[in-house]
Amino acid sequence: MRIAIQSKGRLNEESLALLNEIGIEVDSSKRKYLTKACNFPVELLNLRDDDIPSVVANGSATLGIVGLNEVEEKGCDVEIVDRLGFGACRLCLAIPKTEIYNGPEYFRGKRIATSYPNILKRFLDSKGVKAEVEVITGSVEIAPAAGIADAIFDIVSSGSTLVANSLKEVETVLESEAVLICRKDISVEDRQILEEIRFRMDSAKISRGKKYILMNIPEASLEEAVKILPAMRSPTVMPLAAKGWCSLHSVVDNDKLWEKVRQLKAIGAEGILVLNVDKIIP
Ligand code: ATP
Ligand code: MG
Repeated sequence: MRIAIQSKGRLNEESLALLNEIGIEVDSSKRKYLTKACNFPVELLNLRDDDIPSVVANGSATLGIVGLNEVEEKGCDVEIVDRLGFGACRLCLAIPKTEIYNGPEYFRGKRIATSYPNILKRFLDSKGVKAEVEVITGSVEIAPAAGIADAIFDIVSSGSTLVANSLKEVETVLESEAVLICRKDISVEDRQILEEIRFRMDSAKISRGKKYILMNIPEASLEEAVKILPAMRSPTVMPLAAKGWCSLHSVVDNDKLWEKVRQLKAIGAEGILVLNVDKIIP
């Protein structure tokens, strides 16, 4: 079974890292068009991201990892299996920052520069607004200053490019991230492989950003500690040799770690250990 991924660019590294995380190893040092996984029945087809939706739609690859923005723009007939949690960005309309924005009507009769004409036209149609769409493939953000357009429709992640070009974001049309796509008429054997991939990806998603935490805690504080650390089902509690103490083990979101540590210290937790989690399989 073939999986199409971006050969280089913003999604390449994280696509390979995700495949690696779910136990599909490929030798990415050899930049070839096709690379076989050494321990799983798949091969990777390395392509430009623009080509991934159509290659999956026509069956040259069974699966693909690509930005939702590309899938929506190309309008290919593929199944979106999962959002993958990386490559986050949004497709936005932006106008010169000195302009006053009064809603989508603002764009009536205006020239809008974009590399995503199809998504833009669908948005304008849905609002009943007629505008001129100028297709340009790179540096869309300079179009208003260059006098090529009145507004732009482009990918934004932090927004700093817009600010640097004296533009402001006025409409978000699509929230995008990398997605796993699949051809429509997939065979029974390929469906089985896909289910295995999804099972592993779900587990990778759950374990991302999690830490394993263990500590000694006075028995008198145990009930309070369990409230601070809810765990998947319930935390593990083990007795210590020292009377009146126990050891508490749980899993915690990394971004809540320090807040939890402070709360646990306040109720008497000692000897707190924080370890990386490799896999969580629910
Ligand atoms: P290719 O050579 O494969 O055609 P590209 O230049 O079209 O590459 P990249 O810039 O590598 O594309 O971006 C790939 C995808 O990464 C985008 O389609 C989008 O889904 C996502 N992405 C996330 N953040 C950004 C960003 N700030 N700018 C552009 N794309 C982003
Ligand atoms: Mg591209």
